[in-house]
Formats: sequence, C-alpha cells, structure tokens
Amino acid sequence: MLKLLFKSFTFLTIVLGSSAIAAESPKVVIWKFDDVRVGEKARLLPGFKRVSDWAVKNKTVISMGVICDSLTTPNVDDVTWIKKNAIENGGYIEFWLHGWDHKKIKKADGTDGSEFNGSDLETQKKHFKDACDIFNKNTQLTFNTFGAPYNQNDENTSAAMDVSPNLTNWFFGPKDKKRIILGRSINMEVATGKVSYDKFIQDYKTKTPSSPLVLQGHVGQWDDSSYNDFVKISDFLSKEGWIAQTPRQWAGSVKK
Ligand SMILES: [Zn+2]
Repeated sequence: MLKLLFKSFTFLTIVLGSSAIAAESPKVVIWKFDDVRVGEKARLLPGFKRVSDWAVKNKTVISMGVICDSLTTPNVDDVTWIKKNAIENGGYIEFWLHGWDHKKIKKADGTDGSEFNGSDLETQKKHFKDACDIFNKNTQLTFNTFGAPYNQNDENTSAAMDVSPNLTNWFFGPKDKKRIILGRSINMEVATGKVSYDKFIQDYKTKTPSSPLVLQGHVGQWDDSSYNDFVKISDFLSKEGWIAQTPRQWAGSVKK
C-alpha cells in the first residue's frame, strides 16, 4: 500500500511538474531579414541563400522581407527559390512585405521621407495593393506581415494597409488596434549589414529583452564575420532557452 502511495505521489509530481513547465510561455526569437529582391536586374543576393541553408540544416525558422517591384521583371530561378523555401510549401521561411520600391522621397515640406513616411494615402494604398498582388501572382503565396522600409511609417500607413486585409502583423509599427505589433528592443546589427556578437551579449545582459525578441539583419550585406557572429548569437539564445518562430507563428499563438 505504502509502495503504491509512493508510486502515485511520484506520478503526480511528474504530471504537475511538466504541466508547470508547459504553462510557462516560451521565449521567442524572430529573425527579421530585410531586402530580398528577385528581379532580372536586382537578383537574390548570396547571403539570403547562405542563411536559408543554415535554417534548413538546423531545422529552424526565419523570416525575410521582399521588396516587390523587383517582381515586375521576375527572375525565374529566384522566384522558384522563394516558393521552395516558403514555410507554406514545407520550407523554413515566412516571407513578408517590405514595400513596393523601398525608395526615399522628399516630403511636401522638403524634409526627407520614404515610401510609407510622407507619401499620401492613395500612394501608400497603391503600394500595398500592388505589392501584395504581384507577390501572390508570382509565388501563389500570401503576405501576412508588413515591415516598412527604414522602419518608417506615418499617420496614413495604418489606414492604407486596410486595402490588404491579410496583413495582420506589423514589424516595429505604432500601436494599432487592427494589427498585432512586433516591437523592437535590442539589436544584433551595430550598423546596417554589420553584426556584433560582443555588443549583442552586452545589451542582452544589461537590458534583459522580453519575448518576442525580433532581431533584424541585412544578410545580403553580411561578410563572413557578420554571418559567424549571427550563428554565435543564435547558439547563445538556444542555450538561454529561446526558440525561433516566424512572425505569423508568433501572432497565431498570441491570438489564441
Ligand atoms: Zn530595407
């Protein structure tokens, strides 16, 4: 009898113990890689293939932002690469919308602006619609996440985005009742295209980032040193208990 009681007690402890662990929400890292172009003139840069090969090898997910005017003259091999690697087709990448042309503009007041910072409402609407349509036409995939060029948005952007109701998640956006915002905390790039493991660790220890931790990278510009530092950062985060998700996966878990 005593033996049986002991057994039940052990069983109960194990069950309670594991449910306590399951109830704790996981720490999520989201890799945000910007500036995919897949046109005849502006081809896919080798850095994107390098990091996608890394994701496949490690069976871990990443996300990449597409600049869509490159699809007006698409390169067949690069578009095939997108389709093959898309998470919808069994790959490891969520592709998201990183604008139509990524261009800088002059605002009406003469100051510097960009595609979604200083353009009028109709222009921003057209850019959202054209970008979503041409991506879908070429890849048969649908964007669910938006991240603006230069991470710049203005008072028109949220209303303009209503033309593309599938865009339910927004990288580094302002507070928005209609969409799930993925915020920014610490960075892994110290300058555009330059990753530093040492600086990342320093910031991680002093600022203790909360989940989800979105880390932006311009992988097309990375040299070997930046790539190697990125791999070290990923290994460090794994040991710290962080798991990778795509923006869509994370947003899905929040909505539940
Ligand atoms: Zn960009």
